[in-house]
Amino acid sequence: IIVRFGGWNKAVEKAGLSLVHLRNISEKDLFENIEYVWLKIGKQPVFRDIKSPISKYPRAQYVSRFGTWRKALESFIEFINTPSDENSVEELIGKSSPNDLTSEPIIKHKTKRYPSERLKVQVLMRDGNKCKLCGITLTGDNIHFDHIIPWSKGGETVLENLQVLCSKHNLAKSNLEYPKK
Ligand SMILES: [Zn+2]
Repeated sequence: IIVRFGGWNKAVEKAGLSLVHLRNISEKDLFENIEYVWLKIGKQPVFRDIKSPISKYPRAQYVSRFGTWRKALESFIEFINTPSDENSVEELIGKSSPNDLTSEPIIKHKTKRYPSERLKVQVLMRDGNKCKLCGITLTGDNIHFDHIIPWSKGGETVLENLQVLCSKHNLAKSNLEYPKK
């Protein structure tokens, strides 16, 4: 191969395959990829869901790292249930300009407005990918994460205050929250 193509990488390129440097992938990368796939399909991915283009990494990567897909999922569940401060507002302190504070009535929040990917997956794990109001099954961009107590009324971005809604009901709810004049 090296004689014919002038190197392994060139042969891979010639075969139309892209080079993925699998050795540099961390467990966190692999878990975040599961998070991404989970949010895209709206539910716990099964082994055959781990494929391009939704998954960044091939299935084999999970098998070689964890032994089996089941073990990979078990490690993932552990990862996702590890307390994370990702949604904490503290890191924002000092970053907001004074102008941000004058545009809206000031409500002190402990969390950021938009849930992290991890929090979204936790909501899906608890509720499944069905609209809480109409029960319709949702995937990808049709999944809306709604604050039960609205953010504008001081509701926090925490698991207990989030629910899955379809776009219709999410819109209906935000119209209630901000009545048209
Ligand atoms: Zn709905």
